[in-house]
Amino acid sequence: MVPLAESPTRTEFLFLPEWHQTAFYILMAFATTVCVWQVCKCAFHWMSGKPISWKPDYLRGIIEFVLLQRKVRSSRPLSGAPMHLLIFYGFLALFLGTTLLAINKYSPWKFHHGSYYLVYEFVLDWMGLAFVLGVTWAAGRRAFSPPRGMKSDFSDWVTLSLLLLLGLTGFLVEGARMNLVPRDFDSSAPIGQWIGQALPQLTPATYVGLWWIHVVLVAAFIAWIPQMRLRHILFAVASAAGSDPSAKMGRLRPVTIEEVEATGKIGAESPSDFSRWHILSLDACMQCGRCTEVCPANAVGKSLDPQKVVQDIRSATRTGTTVVDAVSEDALWACTTCNACVEACPVLIRHVDLIVESRRSLVAEGRLSGTAATMLRQLQSTQSAWGTQPADREKWMEGEDVPLARDLAAQQKTFDTLLWIGCAGAVDPGAIRTSKAVVRLLKKAGVNFACLGKDELCTGDPARRTGDEFTYQQLADSNIQTFKRFGVTRIVTPCPHCFNTLRNEYGDFGGDFEVIHHTQLIADLIEDGRLDAPEFSKGEVTLHDPCYLGRVNGEADAPRLALGVPSNQNGLETPLGQWLNRAQEDGNALAEPRHFGRKTLCCGAGGGRMWMEEDTDQRPSARRAQELLDTGASKIAVACPFCRIMLDTSVPKEGSQAIPIEDIAEIVAKANE
Ligand code: SF4
Ligand code: SF4
Repeated sequence: MVPLAESPTRTEFLFLPEWHQTAFYILMAFATTVCVWQVCKCAFHWMSGKPISWKPDYLRGIIEFVLLQRKVRSSRPLSGAPMHLLIFYGFLALFLGTTLLAINKYSPWKFHHGSYYLVYEFVLDWMGLAFVLGVTWAAGRRAFSPPRGMKSDFSDWVTLSLLLLLGLTGFLVEGARMNLVPRDFDSSAPIGQWIGQALPQLTPATYVGLWWIHVVLVAAFIAWIPQMRLRHILFAVASAAGSDPSAKMGRLRPVTIEEVEATGKIGAESPSDFSRWHILSLDACMQCGRCTEVCPANAVGKSLDPQKVVQDIRSATRTGTTVVDAVSEDALWACTTCNACVEACPVLIRHVDLIVESRRSLVAEGRLSGTAATMLRQLQSTQSAWGTQPADREKWMEGEDVPLARDLAAQQKTFDTLLWIGCAGAVDPGAIRTSKAVVRLLKKAGVNFACLGKDELCTGDPARRTGDEFTYQQLADSNIQTFKRFGVTRIVTPCPHCFNTLRNEYGDFGGDFEVIHHTQLIADLIEDGRLDAPEFSKGEVTLHDPCYLGRVNGEADAPRLALGVPSNQNGLETPLGQWLNRAQEDGNALAEPRHFGRKTLCCGAGGGRMWMEEDTDQRPSARRAQELLDTGASKIAVACPFCRIMLDTSVPKEGSQAIPIEDIAEIVAKANE
């Protein structure tokens, strides 16, 4: 064929008689109807839930989590992330390209020619290749090295085959067109041109056959989307758009008395007790296994599998079973609420909300027994998770001359900062060492502070995360009244669990204060020159980031700054980041464990697990302790009394692997003696 000298463009429906075009429209209308009908069926399930209580920021959700793929980019940086980015941006470009083509054909604007057309062809050619490479990568990875937590079934292979065939037949149709009608400007789509030249001379009938194969595959794809895990193409967009813009990992939804009176329920007994958005988010699950891969309970062989929790509750929305019948009670109690799953989930599913709401229902039905139930009872009777009497909260202060808020109030003196000790800090021997070290540091730095002593009650965090919402609310209310009575405006605490609930949850009950973790204050005091930073040799110290500090509240810098490490080192929580950390020249370079910062690994104490029986061969703390020991450091720095207690049970006390555990406050206090 002779190249035609004309403005670059292409002819739509090349070689296709009118009735083929009519058949095409009927097929597409049918496929779209099937798709929409299935989406409507899903929407029917979403609407069975409670109305959402927030105002979504639709645009921000779509830009941040869909277009910019923020969550996808932050996990599996060497495999899942680049693979998904190739598929996503490739698919998006092909989708937009097809949409532009339709606009050009069916609207008065005829722009599909000239330089625009050349750029269009170039971009779609390469993005099509990205799509095909991404899908091939996904299939190879699934076949030869699937990540832990990823399961495959027949429909996954059908899905991947369909996607691959879509990409390949798209290229074949383009190549066939160039084979039959070559143009001077075909080089703007070099892959299509290469395929066209590699093919033997085709006939128009062959082209039409290839075109129909591609179109039928597209129609099958559209009709089948809601049935495949690929439905996340639709539902992840809806999930991101409708998500709560003010949602925080560390904030649980308060239950109100009015709500209980209206529904007769506390928490989620059936899926319809979740919000509509939560039910919608279940449909967005792409079964990627990221949540299961990072779950500390699953990793030590417990029955908890967050991906399965999501799928089981999703099934329950269809079958009408209760949440507990769909998900085992064992699995629900195994969660440490570490939020690793929430942090990893690319479609914003909030597993911890699902689990805690289910626990609330179990607790309300009296289905919590054993040591955790004992903890709740003693919390109700003594307002201490340890079951100690209020006066015992001041025993640790003996010999320390700790200023008390009530004494200062009696003398009509004020204080700037309330040192909130927490239940552990008042009674656990290791945590008491931290409390004393913090007191010494505050005194040395000249901070005007006070403690509450016996006026301090448990924040209620263990009750809330175990599912006893109203015990939590009573404690929160009492503490807030105490804060108001003493004019508290700023709170510092060495406990990340107290820190989280005081900072993120007390506001829902009228308690708005500045709340900081002790490592944040220490870091500030070092920066101001009021305290000296400790010194240690490279690799001597390793740091265990607490989940409720590093991940839930995104604070990984302060513990490092308090240890005199310049910053969160390179901020890269990836193998490259670890390598760069280790390559740091001299002094104060931490021996970072495999999981650190936002991606830290749970010690197993959160979510009330501290008070639940644990099989010795299923301890998350043992796994974490081994990771820390593997760094070769000779000291473990911690920043949480709960982590300290858990690691203490798993780090050897004797032998070649014996290694001390010290809170950062103790390490800094020694440097300031
Ligand atoms: S819940 Fe989220 S992280 Fe887990 S499998 Fe589904 S999409 Fe992946
Ligand atoms: S919060 Fe932690 S323990 Fe609970 S399901 Fe998620 S990853 Fe597992």
